[in-house]
Amino acid sequence: MIGSKASVINAIPDRWKYLKNVIIVKVKHSGDKTTVYARPLARLIEQLQRLPGVGPKSAQRLALHILKRPEAEVEALAQALIEAKKQIGLCSVCFHLSAEPVCEICRNANRDNNTICVVADPRDVIALEKTREYKGKYHVLGGVISPIDGIGPEQLTILALQRRVNQQKPKEVILAISPSVEGETTTLYIGQLLKPFTKVTRIAFGLPVGGDLEYADEVTLARALEGRRELD
Ligand SMILES: [Zn+2]
Repeated sequence: MIGSKASVINAIPDRWKYLKNVIIVKVKHSGDKTTVYARPLARLIEQLQRLPGVGPKSAQRLALHILKRPEAEVEALAQALIEAKKQIGLCSVCFHLSAEPVCEICRNANRDNNTICVVADPRDVIALEKTREYKGKYHVLGGVISPIDGIGPEQLTILALQRRVNQQKPKEVILAISPSVEGETTTLYIGQLLKPFTKVTRIAFGLPVGGDLEYADEVTLARALEGRRELD
């Protein structure tokens, strides 16, 4: 958190006032300690701190680490960030992350078109792919239904899924959504929607309620997939 600039400047002792390019950043959770960063460093820390799981201390550590690396390495990092952001979009069929209009999994002719595994997030596709058990296709919802956060079915790719099921006529749709309250709501909603058109199953979570797919180990996840059962 950066305090108001005027109050920060006023707080600088007179003997430091010649340091025009210095900003005082009051780091979140660090109590009364104030830390002095040169402005570009403060900006870097501020940006890093926006990343999930990165608190003020980690942001500072990462920033100082980056400054110590050779310039070419830092440029490669910056380039990788920009290129990934520019080149990776969503597959037009399954909405998984893809550098092509249609992702590799959807294009793979060896994968079974008769099964669509529905997940909340691209991370879940990655977790399931790591089990090497699943050979069908996917559909990424882009989240779960959560009225409290203003996320209804229309904010997700549920309509596209429904269309896909009607066109592709898969033999089975597997719902692999984490069993949180929102996840359950989403599973039941999609189940009701698709049951008239195809067999709908859900994976057997031996996972704790609220457990995330991506944190399940590969064996647990493979078993959950294997033990799937038809939705009531
Ligand atoms: Zn795809």
